[in-house]
Formats: sequence, structure tokens, C-alpha cells
Amino acid sequence: MTEEFDILIRDVTIVDGTGGAPFKGSIGVTGDRISAVGDLRGVSGERVIEAKGLTATPGFIDVHNHGDLTILYYPRAEGFVHQGITTFVGGNCGTSPAPLGDLISPGYFLIDLRFEVAPYKYYPPLLLPRELVNEKHRELYGWEIDWHTMGEFFQRVEERGISPNYVPLVGHGEIRSLVMGEDYARRAEKEEVEEMKEQVHKAMEEGCRGMSVGRDYEPGYYADLEELVALAEVVAEYGGIYASHSLRTGPRKPGTRPPVKVNGVLEAIEVGRRTGVSVQISHLGPLYDVTPAGQPALTRAAVEATFKLIDDARKEGIDVNFDVIPHHMTGGIYSTPYLAALLAPWIRETGSVEQFARALRMAEFREEVKETIYSGKWYGLNPYLRPEWAKGVLVAECAEKRFEGKSIAEIAGELDVDPVDALMEVLAADPLTKTGRRERSDEAKMLFYTHPEGMVGVDTFAIDDKWESKTPPWYRPNENSYGGFPRYFRTAVRERKVLPLEEAVRKVTSLPARKFKLRDRGIIKPGAYADIVLMDPEIVTDMGDHLEPRRYPKGIEYVLVNGVLVVEKGRHTGARPGRILKRGEES
Ligand SMILES: [Zn+2]
Repeated sequence: MTEEFDILIRDVTIVDGTGGAPFKGSIGVTGDRISAVGDLRGVSGERVIEAKGLTATPGFIDVHNHGDLTILYYPRAEGFVHQGITTFVGGNCGTSPAPLGDLISPGYFLIDLRFEVAPYKYYPPLLLPRELVNEKHRELYGWEIDWHTMGEFFQRVEERGISPNYVPLVGHGEIRSLVMGEDYARRAEKEEVEEMKEQVHKAMEEGCRGMSVGRDYEPGYYADLEELVALAEVVAEYGGIYASHSLRTGPRKPGTRPPVKVNGVLEAIEVGRRTGVSVQISHLGPLYDVTPAGQPALTRAAVEATFKLIDDARKEGIDVNFDVIPHHMTGGIYSTPYLAALLAPWIRETGSVEQFARALRMAEFREEVKETIYSGKWYGLNPYLRPEWAKGVLVAECAEKRFEGKSIAEIAGELDVDPVDALMEVLAADPLTKTGRRERSDEAKMLFYTHPEGMVGVDTFAIDDKWESKTPPWYRPNENSYGGFPRYFRTAVRERKVLPLEEAVRKVTSLPARKFKLRDRGIIKPGAYADIVLMDPEIVTDMGDHLEPRRYPKGIEYVLVNGVLVVEKGRHTGARPGRILKRGEES
């Protein structure tokens, strides 16, 4: 009884990540590892956490995440660790912080910088000269984007230190841009594919655990199956992951049509079939549309038909898994509470909200906006792709009270005008009108949670609770950035009861650890790394909403990463014990 732990978590309910039933006990942590689990009465700890009433789980592994670049700006990753994410997989959807040449695609959250360097109306250019970006970047942050390879980027991250662990993937988009430059809107030549293969080799040697593709985005949209197969073969040689943001919308630009969704996932499965690579389907949703939505039997059929593709592929021996985003109403990485977002190009063009409101009083201006919208040129409001858009957009807060609580479709009906005219009428009355969302059924999401091979990813970036963009439409991070995992536990386990707690935990701990080959993680047992969450499953919940997503969740009390407390009684400790979990190194 002389043994002493660095940290002793006493009298806790343990859900160990394997899917096994919860049990009571204590957890001893020594250094960065769990050293004992069980009845530890009589053993002391330098630090004792009395955890009665709390449940200990392995730290959550977020398999679909874009925090790899922003971790340099927000190394504490407040939005992640507060929700229990101890490890995130970065580099998804075909985009990663490297490899980079002289033309670069500044990260998502550098939207203000991007707009200043190269103003745009509808679509920002993909690639900008690194020098121009850095001029502005130096001014804003005091440092430059100076790395070229993933290896160099890792050094920058390690110099800074980070709170959670980071599993790197390399983005096919960055590789394609590096090799093809601005001439990317075509099929790659043989020699170019060879060069890309070299880049994949290099990234995998430097420690990446796989490659992601972003088939709806430039430049990944223009790749053909042969290119994808050639690159996935390299990934397979290393036993890596092929993470597929599959083709489902297309680039949403004039002249492109939305593809047949199911074909995008079939393509990813085909890549797995031909190369033997381990496939991860990113942010999966029903691959068959049900119109009108909201009929439970049809929703179920669409989800089951989607599952069948995954199950058939697995039966065939293809190692395919998928992940889903917790908040069923948000996709993508941003949110904005402003109705004017639907007309963002014209705010950018007029230069300010005031001038935009004044322009809306010009009949000719309105006519031009409407014409453009009905030409299908602006993806943010395309009535052909979203014929029912006006029903789903609600006015939440408006200087003109008579519009509040109504949808744009209802307002159009009352005013007896076209929905686009109704939208402009509301914005002319108050350009800073805030929107609400009409709650949709989360039936499909709950069904997706039940699949044993499905995981969870928040699909957002590492951020604090302050960030917003100054460029219209004044983006904020979306709700998942703060409360994705708490929302998953609240809805799937506590409210809808589609999963028992231990199974919900398994899907975000040992399952992703197995898929991404993270040894000794995703499990609570002696010898495993001490990535641990202490939560109260009875109250755990997300706190943000559409109007204000930037709120940390409730019910996640303690979070340990590599044996170090990063969240203590719901507060970030400032510690940065996170590691880059590189391929080929001890994780
Ligand atoms: Zn994506």
C-alpha cells in the first residue's frame, strides 16, 4: 500500500470504451498512462479527484475534423477539449495545412484575410500567392505561413504545444494544387499523377495516417477515378486511411449540376476494392432523397439502403467505415445568424450593411439581384437546387416586428410577392435581421448512430468562444464546434435512447482508435494512455444555438490528455499535453 499515483480518480463509474457494461471503481494515472483500474482503496494519489456521480470514459476521438491548421492559432482548442475531444483527426475533406508551394489556399477561418487580399463577389479564388497572404498574415498574427511540407508543419505545431492530440491526414486538394497549380480544372496527366504519388509517399513518411479527398471541392472535383486509385495505392502501402468527402453536391457553380449522390460513395468503395485501402466515408447522410421529407417509413428506407452499401462492401472484405456530424441541422463548418447571408455577394459588393440597405430601396437593384438569383449563379441561394428554401428560412429577430416568427414563404404569401422579393423586403426593413431554423426531424441521424461501424466527427475547427468573421455574412463557428459530442450523448443516449451509454462511448473511442491504428488509446485499462473524460451523463448537453453557437457545453467536468488535466471542473487549465500521433511512431 505504498504505491502512489500522480492522479487518482476515485469512486467513479467506468465505461471503458470496449462496449462492456459500466462498472464502479477507481483509476490510477502515473505519468502519461493509466496504471491501475479497479478497487484502489488504500492507495493514495498526489492528486485525488473524488468522482462520485461522474462517469469516466476514454477521451473522445473525433474522426472528422478541420482543426489541424487552426490549432496553430488556437493551440488550447477550447471548443474541442471542453466537449471531451482528446484526439482529433485533421486534414479532412481534401484539405490540409501542407504540402504548400508558392500558391496557397488559406485556411477556412482566414476568410477576412482572404477577402482583403483578393476581394470577390460570389466565389473566392482557390489559390492566392503565398507572399501576398503572408504580407497580411504578418500584420494580423506576427508570423508567416512559412512551411512547405507536413513535416515542417508538424514542427510548428510541436514548437507551440497543443492541448488535444492530433492525428494528421494529408489533403488530396493540397497535393493536386501543388502539382497542377492554377491549371487544375482538368484531368491530370500521367506525369502529374506520378508527382502526386511522390507527394503522398512523402506525407506518409512524415507521419500522416492517410489521405482525404474533397470531391465536391476544387481542385479535387476534377480528379478521375484512375488518379484516386493511383494515390490510394500509395496510402494502402502504408496501411493508411482513405477518407472520402464523396461527391454529392458538386462545386455548386454555374455550369455544374448536382450529381447522383449514391455514386459518390460507390466511388469511394470502388477505390477500396481496387487498392485494399481502409476507407472512411466522411459525414455520411442518406444517399437517397425522400421528397417531401419527414415521412418516417421513407426516411428509414433511405437510411437502410445507405447502410446496405456499407454492409455489402464490408461483406466483400472492403474495410469501410463512416462518420456522422452530431447536429443534424448544420453541415459545414460555419454558421451565421444573419438573414442577409443569403445575399452576401451584394453586401460585399456595396461595401457595408448601410449601403446594402440603401441599395435595396432601388427597384433596379432588386430586379438585378432577383435576376441573378434565378439564373442559378449564386450557390448560397439557388432556387433550383433548393426549391423549398423559403419555407425553411424563418425570421427570428427583426426591427419590423410583423415579420418575426414567420418564414420567408409565409411573408411572400402575405405580401403576395415572389419569395426573393419578400426576402429583400425584410432586409430593406432591417438588414441585420436574424434568422431561426425550423426544427427538422432528427430521425435519420438517430438511425445513423445505430450502425455499429459508424463514428462521430464535428467537422469544424479548433477555436475559442470569441471568433467571428468581419466579412459578410459574418460567420461564426457552428454549434458542433462547442457541443457536438455532448449533443450526441444527450440525444442518442439520454433523450432518444437509440444507444446504451457503453455503445455510444465505444463508437467514439475504441472503434476510431482501431480504425486509425492508435495503439493504447480509446480504452480505459492499465497501460493505456490516460486520455480520460469525466462526465455526468444525466446532464451532459450542448448549450449553443443557431443565434449564438459559441457556448461551451455542460456536464463535461474533467478532461485528461496524456495524463494531464486540460479541463478541471469545467474550466480549461491552459495545459498543452497534446501530441501529434504520427504514423510509424508510438502513438
Ligand atoms: Zn467534407
